[in-house]
Amino acid sequence: MASLDPSDVVSAVDTGLFIGGRWRAAAHGRRLSVENPATGAQLAEVADATIDDGTLALDAACAAQRHWASVPPRQRGEILRRAYDLLTERTEQFALLITLEMGKSLAESRGEVAYAANYLRWFGEEAVRIDGSWKVSEDGTARVLVMRQPVGPCLFITPWNAPLSMPARKIGPAIAAGCTMVLKPAAQTPLTTNALAAVLAEAGLPDGVLNVVPTSEASALSEHLLGDERLRKISFTGSTAVGRLLLAQAAQNVLRTSMELGGNAPFIVCHDADLERAVDGAATAKLRNIGEACIAANRFHVHRSVAEEFTDKLVERMTGLRLGDGTDPDTDLGPLIDSRQRSRVAQLVDEGVAAGARVRIGGETPQGPGYFYPPTVLSDVPADARIAREEIFGPVAAIQTFSSDEEALAVANDTEFGLVSYLYTRDLDRALWMSERLETGMVGLNRGYVSDASAPFGGVKQSGVGREGGRSGINEYLEERYIAIQATPPLETVES
Ligand code: NAD
Repeated sequence: MASLDPSDVVSAVDTGLFIGGRWRAAAHGRRLSVENPATGAQLAEVADATIDDGTLALDAACAAQRHWASVPPRQRGEILRRAYDLLTERTEQFALLITLEMGKSLAESRGEVAYAANYLRWFGEEAVRIDGSWKVSEDGTARVLVMRQPVGPCLFITPWNAPLSMPARKIGPAIAAGCTMVLKPAAQTPLTTNALAAVLAEAGLPDGVLNVVPTSEASALSEHLLGDERLRKISFTGSTAVGRLLLAQAAQNVLRTSMELGGNAPFIVCHDADLERAVDGAATAKLRNIGEACIAANRFHVHRSVAEEFTDKLVERMTGLRLGDGTDPDTDLGPLIDSRQRSRVAQLVDEGVAAGARVRIGGETPQGPGYFYPPTVLSDVPADARIAREEIFGPVAAIQTFSSDEEALAVANDTEFGLVSYLYTRDLDRALWMSERLETGMVGLNRGYVSDASAPFGGVKQSGVGREGGRSGINEYLEERYIAIQATPPLETVES
């Protein structure tokens, strides 16, 4: 296929607010600027929603809710299936858009398009499997009819690191369940989300079911909407700090909440691991999304007896990776999202080194435009260094060693986060024993990748509440209600 022109792909995106099925300007004509992190240049301007625009979006969602909940499940599912097909057909356009505003390589962006589309297809299939139950009450005097109904209008807030799949993981189940929604994408990456809204409209989503309001005033807009009694749910993906704030605000109106928050994933390599596979998995879990992933391996815990060999192999794997503009097909690793994020990563590395860590590769911020940071491996990282305790969100592997399985588990679990852990061992008993004791919502066992539309993605501890994907994912958007039906008299068998 002939390569696409970036300016054509950007200019094809509607840059208004998407409210009630129409693209419109923000109040007072406010606009916000979207930047390409590989160059620092402006890509586009999009409408910048005010609080009043947010209210209009919620008005539209509320107006559409009753009808939308009554649309037959098969129709809701078919809209999602058509959207899956459209996204898949337009993989190249979406991939380029993601790369331009977020930075990752085109190959990775194509992967994100497929991943996002899978959630639409998966939940399209789930739409027709929403069921209830019928039972005889415990004492026999009633029949219990259980039904599951849409929660109602939802607010979605999503991050910049996966601007297509993070919204798709919420929109898919909400559409399947019959909920309407207001989506506030990250200010850094609104173009991809607007393009997704256009695809859903093209697939037949009725006006008002999905409303999209990018804004530079995230906290004011969301606080306002969370205070509106018509809203029934918030689903948020982002940092734990912001998640805590939103949970407190959601408590005012006792909203349903789903929270996909930060991680601090341990990557454990036991003495009996297949080191080639472990290094493959480490490269995937560390470098995916330029390290800017909630499920990125954050701390490497390697058995003392294999630590040097593992470290050498990982350094070898990271040697020669090409940093560059993600649109260049030769690029392995794109830029970080902005200068603030890059300075944070550089500071974590510098502090780690000052505390005794050794730089095995990388560690120097390159000159020039764009927010690049090189693949970096640190060994001998002290357990109490900030880089071993906080989410790095960059391509830096911080390696520590351990001597026993118990020690590995203790250090892996010594964090308030609990999203994912990775474990490499060839011993089945060890694998199960340790997997059951790792305090995370997901475990990658001899595998550096856990994301899958058919699996329940989510964290425990301060990494979140609820699950996205899998059989349970749709429950986040359904309320269980029941009707107690009087069954007396008579309960006895009727004699004819
Ligand atoms: P962030 O929390 O700063 O921002 C996320 C979203 O929240 C953005 O849309 C932002 O505009 C909005 N926001 C920020 N402050 C807000 C406030 N006070 N009130 C309302 N909205 C607010 O996070 P980020 O830097 O965009 O993303 C990185 C974080 O997201 C990381 O911690 C990462 O682990 C997490 N994340 C988690 C998952 C998951 O599934 N668990 C997936 C991707 C990212």
